[in-house]
Amino acid sequence: MTALPTAGLGKRTLRDLDIEAGERILVRSDLNVPLTAGRVADDTRIRAALPAIQKLRVRDTRTVVCSHLGRPKGRDPATSMAPVSARMSELIGARVHLAPDVIGPEVRRGVDRLEHGEVLLLENTRWESGETRNDPELARALADLADAFVNDAFGAAHRAHASTAGVAEYLPAVAGPLLEREVVVLRGVAEAPERPLVVVLGGAKVTDKIALIERFAERADAILIGGAMCFSFFRAQGRPVGDSLVEEEGVELARSLLERIGEEGLRARLLLPTDLVIADRFAAEAKRQTLDGVEVPDGWMGLDVGPQTAEAYAREIQSAATVLWNGPMGAFELEPFAGGTRAVAEAVAGAPGTTVVGGGDSAAALERFGLADRVDHLSTGGGAALELLEGRSLPGVEALDDA
Ligand code: ADP
Ligand code: MG
Repeated sequence: MTALPTAGLGKRTLRDLDIEAGERILVRSDLNVPLTAGRVADDTRIRAALPAIQKLRVRDTRTVVCSHLGRPKGRDPATSMAPVSARMSELIGARVHLAPDVIGPEVRRGVDRLEHGEVLLLENTRWESGETRNDPELARALADLADAFVNDAFGAAHRAHASTAGVAEYLPAVAGPLLEREVVVLRGVAEAPERPLVVVLGGAKVTDKIALIERFAERADAILIGGAMCFSFFRAQGRPVGDSLVEEEGVELARSLLERIGEEGLRARLLLPTDLVIADRFAAEAKRQTLDGVEVPDGWMGLDVGPQTAEAYAREIQSAATVLWNGPMGAFELEPFAGGTRAVAEAVAGAPGTTVVGGGDSAAALERFGLADRVDHLSTGGGAALELLEGRSLPGVEALDDA
């Protein structure tokens, strides 16, 4: 762990906002949490949203918080924010009021009734069809509830929705602390990393990560490929992959990258697994063996990188000044196939360089191994983090007031 490189946000932040007691501040948080039986199953995102809300409470504002939850089509009680307001109340030790709706006269009265320092949570923004359309009428109605807007929803910042981007048109609009840190750190890694920069990529959804692979092939010093992603490369090399998960679209990219390796402008060394753990099906009780090599026989599938690969990747991670990790090395949810991901997670946690981890499943893996607090930055945003690392700008950030 070391100090993080950062790249300036270029936008006004909560620190730059003049706030008077009693002012109404609308905060867009990312409270899109998993629910089980009407209760919050994992409160990580609620906890991550608290610093912004607490910073406002101590300044005696009337704080109005909003978020989407799930993908409801219209008003659907199963996606009510009620469980979130309950959990948030417990976490801050004060009642978080729940509005009966997203906008409208009753919501308006709820805001007016707030005491200084109190918090009102609006209902699920996706109950309004205008949310995902970025309807200016919805954006204006949200803006009418407040005197200023704080966007702290990093996980939703890659979407130009009414509550993320639209509302910023109608109010003084600044970045919250979570959004600010995510953007500054991830942009720092994408644009000005300390070298050598080693990027570890895995997971299942190669097509989601094509732009990322291409960009870091040009900018990183080494790319270590694991997860199901490696089978797109092996297929492109004409090797047998058995029943391993292969995304056809990824094969084309892999082929063109393999052809360009060593050419000018392609800076990264590309490392692929040299051994695999294979199984006869995708299950914890599957028949399993370690394959010295990567040619997967018929009737078998690769579900993890092998020990030799894990060791080689760990060495690369140890020698990096900056490590970026996105995507598990194998089907780590199944304990017999968690070895490669655990080895990489431990190497990242113990690495002397700066360590940044993005991706929901990679974060889940770190949590599971008890290593989440041993990395310098664990991103809370999946899609938003990927887009930022690809060098794209995020609509939810662009819409904020320039610094
Ligand atoms: P992240 O959320 O970190 O970006 P992804 O969503 O791309 O990661 O991929 C995570 C999923 O990839 C996990 O559910 C894991 O089981 C799966 N996976 C990794 N390696 C393999 C493999 N060899 N075969 C099948 N699935 C795999
Ligand atoms: Mg995922």
